[in-house]
Amino acid sequence: MLIPVLIWGLLGCSRQPEKITCTDTAMGTVLQQTLYVSPGTDGGKIFSEMKYLLEDLEKRELSWRETDSLVGIINTSAGKESVELTAPLESELDLVLEVGKRSKGALDITLGKVCRLWNLDHWAQIGGEDFCVPKQEEIEKFLVHTGAEEIRLKEGKIEIPENMELDLGAVGKGIACDRLQEYLQEQENVTGAVISVGGSVLTYGEKPDGENWKVGIAHPREEGNNIAVLHLEGGMCVSTSGDYERYVQKEGVRYHHILDPVTGYPADAGLVSVTIVSESGCLSDALSTACFVLGKEEGLALAESYGVQALLVDSALGIFMTEGMDKIAVLE
Ligand code: AMP
Ligand code: MG
Repeated sequence: MLIPVLIWGLLGCSRQPEKITCTDTAMGTVLQQTLYVSPGTDGGKIFSEMKYLLEDLEKRELSWRETDSLVGIINTSAGKESVELTAPLESELDLVLEVGKRSKGALDITLGKVCRLWNLDHWAQIGGEDFCVPKQEEIEKFLVHTGAEEIRLKEGKIEIPENMELDLGAVGKGIACDRLQEYLQEQENVTGAVISVGGSVLTYGEKPDGENWKVGIAHPREEGNNIAVLHLEGGMCVSTSGDYERYVQKEGVRYHHILDPVTGYPADAGLVSVTIVSESGCLSDALSTACFVLGKEEGLALAESYGVQALLVDSALGIFMTEGMDKIAVLE
């Protein structure tokens, strides 16, 4: 009996999915991929196809830096003509504009010129020594050309007024998670995955041990530590917006990359980090930015109105959660 049991055991073992991991960069951020695949799967091919998918998404659709991406074309066509969207981007923009409305403009994808004026991505990267706060009149000059209610999105086409510039930085990584999930659903050999693209994480499928996926929420003031760990099923997206992600410090003031569309200055509603968990990456990313700008009360109310889970951290490092979040978040 010993031999058949042994052989059966070995066969059983060999059918277990294998865990493979890869750390790379894509969309200007760190791409971390962990996959569980059937034995014999070409994991390298899957990793590079996912990276390529993200580079393509950035280059062809989302990047304001590329003049021939869809966002680039929309921006150069401002006030001149409408631009045809891809079907997924049309429904993603629909959702983003709805979050914009329901957040009373706290999420505003028309802030492109104001974001460029602050240029915080750049200053955060090179250090803030020579950073100068933009002049009030300059901020006001660019704020005049913002306001998502001016966007016309109809029948697959979009048109924005003259001088307006779109910036989809607030939702790009979440959209990336949605597109990756679609790709994974087509891969028969992938049984489970957890993929992180900058501040957004996707869980997919199941772990071989049947355990939940564990996704850490970065501590906003202790680099390398988590403030909480989320225990999630497959098919969830986690997006975090924080004032610690991209910022410069000048004369004791932290100038971070999430702007308040009313003032044109970095949002200052008392929060330092917002995490949203939803089945849609586009929604979780849109809401993480919107709730950060809105602050604790209005942010929690907005998240609850969408039926998603939220974990907010205020500047005293107090933690506030939607009702269901305490069932999936373990505080560190
Ligand atoms: P996130 O890290 O997802 O909160 O996105 C922040 C990025 O979105 C910034 O780097 C800007 O490109 C852009 N952004 C900043 N403030 C806003 C805002 N209030 N609404 C929409 N996009 C914004
Ligand atoms: Mg966001």
